[in-house]
Amino acid sequence: MTCEKVRTRFAPSPTGYMHVGNLRTALYAYLVAKKDHGTFILRIEDTDQERYVEGATDIIYNTLRETGLIWDEGPDIGGPVGPYVQSERMGMFKEYALQLVEQGKAYYCFCDKDRLEEVRVLQKASGMPPKYDGHCRHLSREEIEEKLAAGIPYVIRQKMPEGGTTTFHDEIFGDIVVENDSLDDQILIKSDGMPTYNFANVVDDHLMGITHVIRGNEYLSSAPKYNLLYEAFGWDIPVYVHCPPVMKNATEKLSKRNGDASYQDLVAKGYLTPAILNYIALLGWSPKGDQEIFTLDELTREFDIAGISKSPAIFDVQKLNYVNGEY
Ligand code: GLU
Ligand code: ZN
Repeated sequence: MTCEKVRTRFAPSPTGYMHVGNLRTALYAYLVAKKDHGTFILRIEDTDQERYVEGATDIIYNTLRETGLIWDEGPDIGGPVGPYVQSERMGMFKEYALQLVEQGKAYYCFCDKDRLEEVRVLQKASGMPPKYDGHCRHLSREEIEEKLAAGIPYVIRQKMPEGGTTTFHDEIFGDIVVENDSLDDQILIKSDGMPTYNFANVVDDHLMGITHVIRGNEYLSSAPKYNLLYEAFGWDIPVYVHCPPVMKNATEKLSKRNGDASYQDLVAKGYLTPAILNYIALLGWSPKGDQEIFTLDELTREFDIAGISKSPAIFDVQKLNYVNGEY
């Protein structure tokens, strides 16, 4: 994909409050898109029903609307612009996985829990890291047909390359190289027919034409596996920007589950929205000049991925007080 407009997305899982770290991810994604007059998309990643927190989706919508980080498109063509909601798109992911099966890049795995457990025990006993042993990679077409006809539950796994390395490039962290032999044949479709979180994330980023993936660096270690999926499909790999976390203090990250530094809470305490946006923009990003107070429009003009810091930032209410006083 060349010469096309920037398309970014904010892809939150509705698993709790929206803290200033989550809001900062949304802000950076918005700024990268808007600086280029591109498109900012909201995609709710709500496939993990167990972690779903009632009301969390409304908090996301309200926070983005109140802060002016308005998403540009959604599936409701002609109607109000709704965001994309992953649980409403579940039907099509399996088709994509089956394409890879047909091309020999993914395979049906019929191993049951007991077999996987045995493998794990043996690996542990010999000091090997846990990894699927590839047992079902070499089933014959007849064996597969037979098992499918017998209704044996299965998952679909991607074949990881054997030997060699995979290099993954991140705009902040540079090149990350992993040994292919350390990678597990990742599950794409679970036994209930639903996609795994990683698979849905990659397919959706591709279908939505995302050019820049901006998110927290907790995804950095699985990122090489994302690349191998793009490669298997022959899709263009987006630009990756993994942002270091916003911390509560030197050792603890902010948590959405605990409601740490939630945007709603800060507003309730009287902090002004533009001050909050200004403060979090500078939490982990250094502008080129010495301007300290920015409007959203000014941030849009000035923002630059190269200015994002590699180190975690600490949420400091004193600094927010200072910025708030300037507004
Ligand atoms: N859904 C993920 C989260 O809320 C973000 C994944 C992504 O941006 O790729 O942590
Ligand atoms: Zn298997």
